[in-house]
Amino acid sequence: MTKQSEYLKDARLIETHYGEEYERYYNAIVPPVFLNSLNVFPSIDAYYDSDKTDKHVYCYGRVQNPTVRILEDKIAALEHGERAFVFSSGMAAATTAVMAVCRSGSHVVCVRNVYGPLKTFLTQYCTEHFQMRITFVKGDKLEEFEEAITDDTDLVVLESPSSILMTLQDIQGVSSIAAAHHARVYIDNTYCTPIFQNPLDLGVDMVMHTMSKYIGGHSDIIGGVLVAKDTALLDKLSLMRELYGGILGPMEAWLGIRGIRTLEVRLRQHEKTAMAVAEFLENHPKVRKVHYPGLPSFPQYELMKKQQRGNCGLMSFEIDGTVKEAKEFCEALSIFKIGVSWGGFESLVTMPFARATDEEAAWLGAEQNMIRIHCGLEGEDLLIADLEKGLETIGT
Ligand SMILES: *Cc1c(COP(=O)(O)O)cnc(C)c1O
Repeated sequence: MTKQSEYLKDARLIETHYGEEYERYYNAIVPPVFLNSLNVFPSIDAYYDSDKTDKHVYCYGRVQNPTVRILEDKIAALEHGERAFVFSSGMAAATTAVMAVCRSGSHVVCVRNVYGPLKTFLTQYCTEHFQMRITFVKGDKLEEFEEAITDDTDLVVLESPSSILMTLQDIQGVSSIAAAHHARVYIDNTYCTPIFQNPLDLGVDMVMHTMSKYIGGHSDIIGGVLVAKDTALLDKLSLMRELYGGILGPMEAWLGIRGIRTLEVRLRQHEKTAMAVAEFLENHPKVRKVHYPGLPSFPQYELMKKQQRGNCGLMSFEIDGTVKEAKEFCEALSIFKIGVSWGGFESLVTMPFARATDEEAAWLGAEQNMIRIHCGLEGEDLLIADLEKGLETIGT
């Protein structure tokens, strides 16, 4: 059998084989779902002497589980990290990361376009209960970070590209500014997945993914993951997961492994479809603006090329029409279903700012009629025909 270390060179081999030890489970090509909550030991001393961080020593399901560990080893290898910890949701991973690094009174610098519930956690919970101070930055200029990050800053929160307007941050640039002030950098890498971007290689400390999107890929699990390299940080994250108790269940971990097997081929297909759809929209007279980092007209296209290897199926656009017309467009589609998530096999459409105030939308750099679509795996010809049908309703 090929050595595990040889798999590390190629994402496709990590997805399909890395981390699996067939001989430990009757040479089954797919690992079992270890649905046990505990493991037993031959003696009291064996229990006390065991190193519970060893991947072959298991003790209790809130701490570790063999199916969970296979998934974690795959994600850590894909993200070029030392170790990954999976959680019961993306938000469980995100909030654990914040609490692992911050303390009462901490200063956090965060991009405006960060995932909404994390923003709520920072601005409503962390400020009120821990007197933390949050500085928001638009995030497209390094000077903003230079101004915002001080020696008091403990954490910098990035999301690149972001998931509504697809805005990027210069990950390497921000990481070196943060390092000079001894602040940790966290990034939500859900948009790119480890296939298209590896932020740990660019100086980031913690990479987060929600597995509810592309890693799961089939719209059937809620899960999250944190990946890091630094030993002290990993020890902290391991302890925090154990104490908060947010570990992913073994059944979801198994579905996560199943999803990862096809991550690369799915992403390539999502990207190909999304590129065709983005070009179609960009050239359509009823579309004012398309936000997709893969388009050469995207304002941060050069930065995208520098730090990403591709783009996923998510984009947003503005029609030449009212909020009412945008809603009618969404409702006229048949393949694109109306729904909030993304990253699965199915195409979706939503209006993230339909109920936002003008000020809220403007703060994020958008308008209320903004439409976000996820291009699934149904095929570009079918999706373009569906969008064409929807666009015909505008201005009639
Ligand atoms: C969905 C999402 C999350 C949250 O993940 P959950 O698994 O739903 O908690 C975080 N970040 C981004 C970019 C998301 O789209």
